[in-house]
Amino acid sequence: MYFHATRNYEKGHKKTDRMANLLNWLVYYAGLSRLLGTHHQVYLLYHRVNNCEVVARHYGKRRFVTDQQFEKQMRLLSKINDGRVSITFDDGYKDNFLYAYPILKKYGQRAIFFISSGFIDGNYFHAGDIVDCYIRKGALTKKEAKKLRMTMRELPLSQRNELIGRLEIEAAELSDDHAMTWADLKRLLVEGHIIGNHTVNHPVLTRESQQHLVYEIAKCNQDIRDHLGIECRHFAYPYGRMKDIPPRIETLLADHGIEYAFTTVRGYYSDDESPFFIRRMPISYGDDLAAFANRCYGVSIERGVERRTLVDTLLRRIGVRR
Ligand SMILES: [Zn+2]
Repeated sequence: MYFHATRNYEKGHKKTDRMANLLNWLVYYAGLSRLLGTHHQVYLLYHRVNNCEVVARHYGKRRFVTDQQFEKQMRLLSKINDGRVSITFDDGYKDNFLYAYPILKKYGQRAIFFISSGFIDGNYFHAGDIVDCYIRKGALTKKEAKKLRMTMRELPLSQRNELIGRLEIEAAELSDDHAMTWADLKRLLVEGHIIGNHTVNHPVLTRESQQHLVYEIAKCNQDIRDHLGIECRHFAYPYGRMKDIPPRIETLLADHGIEYAFTTVRGYYSDDESPFFIRRMPISYGDDLAAFANRCYGVSIERGVERRTLVDTLLRRIGVRR
């Protein structure tokens, strides 16, 4: 069951946020999650797990959970996961290894870690991290930062790197944003986790030439092969909205041995869909445990929820309405 964030999304979304939280709570604690849930595959999407207030404040609460939240989520997941729920991490931040990995281990959960290989060992930083650094320094307002972030994201890689060069950020200023190392990834692999391809430089793929696309996919595969000795079968699109994905890329991915490719489009995955456009459910700071649990069951109650749809679905499930 999936309720789209459609109606009045902008208008009064605080009210609908509260409504979504309340409905999540009611559905979960009334024991209705399993009844309403789909039988689809659920891929949870995480970026960062951290206990740093600064990161929490500046990284953006959308792509962040605290280590305490993550522990509660994994404890719950270990009780309800019948194999339909998979955990994925994008980007390869060090905090994935420092905070998420020990918790995954404690609760016997495995994950897919999508890494941008140029970022591993701290050689490269995502454009967004540089913007975050400027915010921390107080050099940009939130509005300016948003504009810079969007500008950087839309630039072809060569121009983006030129801009980053001109911003003259010292690596030390980004110290709490370091990436995982190949040694960390080796450890994850040994413990049964999957390492996936998230390109070399994390560009918007639709902005790059066909030749450069091949490089981003093939080189990341090669880096993973060289450092970890495995063939990569999983890929996640940078940024990952449908408009960031070039047409017919699945052929190129398949040619490079990729079998599953993941978007950041919100939703669930069923076997009759293409494995090259798998949707995921993001988990972020604002989600309470009931919302998390419902998503794991395949029930997504979001902002702008259509209450009538919820009642209809419920009545249909229990056979009162067809
Ligand atoms: Zn990413």
